[in-house]
Amino acid sequence: MTPNEQALSVQRRAVAVDMHADTVQFVIDEGADISGSVATTHLDAPRMREGGLDAQFFSVWVEPEFYGLGGERVIARADAQVEAIRALAERRPDVWTFATTAADIRRAHEGGKLAALLGLEGGYAIDEKLERVEHYFRRGVRYMTPAWTHSLSWAGSSGDALGATRGLNDFGRAVVREMNRLGMLVDVSHVSDKTFWDMVETSTSPVIATHSNCRALADVPRNLTDDMIRAIAGTGGVVSAVFYPGFLEQDWRVKRDAVEAEIRPLIEEAERGASDKGGSLKRLAGDRVRTREFASRLAPVPFTRVADHIDHVVKLTSVEHVGCGSDFDGITATPAGLSSVAELPNLTAELLRRGYTEEDVSKILGGNVLRVMEETEKLTH
Ligand SMILES: [Zn+2]
Repeated sequence: MTPNEQALSVQRRAVAVDMHADTVQFVIDEGADISGSVATTHLDAPRMREGGLDAQFFSVWVEPEFYGLGGERVIARADAQVEAIRALAERRPDVWTFATTAADIRRAHEGGKLAALLGLEGGYAIDEKLERVEHYFRRGVRYMTPAWTHSLSWAGSSGDALGATRGLNDFGRAVVREMNRLGMLVDVSHVSDKTFWDMVETSTSPVIATHSNCRALADVPRNLTDDMIRAIAGTGGVVSAVFYPGFLEQDWRVKRDAVEAEIRPLIEEAERGASDKGGSLKRLAGDRVRTREFASRLAPVPFTRVADHIDHVVKLTSVEHVGCGSDFDGITATPAGLSSVAELPNLTAELLRRGYTEEDVSKILGGNVLRVMEETEKLTH
């Protein structure tokens, strides 16, 4: 067997779970039917099968720029995304299973179905109402990160200056406790350092990072310090490596910022030309310009860099505390060799080449996340 054939067979036997993809934006704004082949996304059902990915957490994410950070429009937009993912399995039960538990994922894998799951990125979609945490839980949402790139009154973000001094307030702590009570996983991706530590201190269930890398290798605020990675492991949680080049390589990010400034007129022109349904089509049009220009102007980051970040988490903790959260369809560049979900076996081959056993690799691909889901399901009260 060649190394690639070996990787593919390991990939097929493993239950692979990815913690974060933004594909639902394409589903609801452009009508992409991801049960079949789609040219404009990083992920669809045929490529999940090709790459051996069994389960995807689809991110429910509302653009603050167009919908604000609270109120009816945010709620409606988040609810529409939840229903769009639930509808996948309703329309094509031959392809998808809507999953909310580890057992659901294992059953889907055994039955040859793809598991679709939900995570909420940006707690502003609860509109500062505690009961909306339970609303989302009942509709199937199984993780939530409080903040996206804007700090909220109750949680700080790594994406703005306010986040540096903003932790969880009393309401924010109540939200984390409510997530613990329900069995919704507590996600620290995107939160500020201060909020991170408040969440770790408050949560009585394992804490996860659904799509974050290591600051030791790429020093950006979205990534985790070594102390944070150890703290997540200390709760029994998992750090899921993100594939975005800007979080893999600091240098790529610096160069991207320069290109972003240069191509601003092109982005604005594309956004002006987009027919506007609430603004999200403008964002997609701008992102297409970014994708094209980043690909032609920036040297790609190799997919092996993802394995470097995985290695770092393993060295700091153990092979029990690392996973994958690609952020496919939420990123305007992908690593060379991981341009879509179909190329996931390249990463598997690299991990095997680095000496990880099949058992290790299956933990990294999904086993660790399944363990955290099972533990969290047991802790609900
Ligand atoms: Zn994100």
